[in-house]
Amino acid sequence: MDIGFIGLGNMGQPMARRLIEAGHKLIVYDTRNDAVAPLVALGAQVAASPQDVADRVETVMASLPSLQISEKVATGEGGVIHGKRIKRFIDLSTTGSRVAAKIAAALAKNNIVQIDSPVSGGVGGAKKGTLAVMVSGPKADIELVKDALGVFGKVFVIGDKPGMAQTMKLANNFLSATAMAATAEAVAMGVKAGLDAAVMIDVINAGSGRTTASDGKFPQAILPRTFNYGFGTALMLKDVRLCAEEAKGLNVPDAVMRTVLDQWEATNTQYGGDSDFTAIVKMIEQRAGVTIGKKP
Ligand code: NAD
Repeated sequence: MDIGFIGLGNMGQPMARRLIEAGHKLIVYDTRNDAVAPLVALGAQVAASPQDVADRVETVMASLPSLQISEKVATGEGGVIHGKRIKRFIDLSTTGSRVAAKIAAALAKNNIVQIDSPVSGGVGGAKKGTLAVMVSGPKADIELVKDALGVFGKVFVIGDKPGMAQTMKLANNFLSATAMAATAEAVAMGVKAGLDAAVMIDVINAGSGRTTASDGKFPQAILPRTFNYGFGTALMLKDVRLCAEEAKGLNVPDAVMRTVLDQWEATNTQYGGDSDFTAIVKMIEQRAGVTIGKKP
């Protein structure tokens, strides 16, 4: 099908590429020219603005870095809301349920359906097509785009209310963020007591402490000390903050969320939002006075 794709960053780039490889015709837009070029080389056409994308296709996807940018691209000046052909806007970004519902309501006034479809599984999952794709929105429109979304990974229809998939995504990412913060503390403790970090990770992965931090992030980006997993600290902070706000709004216990949020805020302050989110381990190392990593 003809698909517009806005936001060709760490996630958008490989997802757009997979759509082209699956035979879809893409109209792409990003504020960075260097993000657009590799997809043009694969046959994508370039649009001049989100509105231009929405003038040319019925289905527009977006993978954008902040709530404000998602709102601007969807409903701002030059946004998809002003497009002539667009019928549905699929937001693959993590925006939280409040913003998803706000965008849905604004787009509905112009008869555009919003489908929120946040994803989980990282840049590796986006490249391989093994993401968890969480979808909420009107059933009929989801049916129309389910196959295209299936190119990204496994599609889970969460519900028909705008924002439901966002709540699902926030619950997931809170757990991922917690595992990262907790594993950093656990391993720093062991290393300070004289244990080998690589052995610790092997034991944890064979035992009951195993998480996506211990079986993915630590072996791939912490033990080799590359700290380049491909997810920004600002994005992780955004997700945990949104999750804490969501829990507060629903009046459910959030003690763990608030503690984990403090750790990501501190990481963001110390290393900056553009740092890779594995920087949280550097912060814990510094505080503990240890280095976690394979012994030379
Ligand atoms: P990114 O910062 O790498 O990419 C965002 C892209 O959007 C960039 O190419 C940027 O130039 C472009 N952009 C910014 N403003 C724009 C605008 N006004 N119009 C058009 N393009 C614009 O971010 P990412 O890591 O790809 O994440 C995108 C979304 O996916 C975020 O909501 C994030 O939370 C979510 N997500 C990321 C990961 C991950 O591992 N990186 C995993 C799951 C979900």
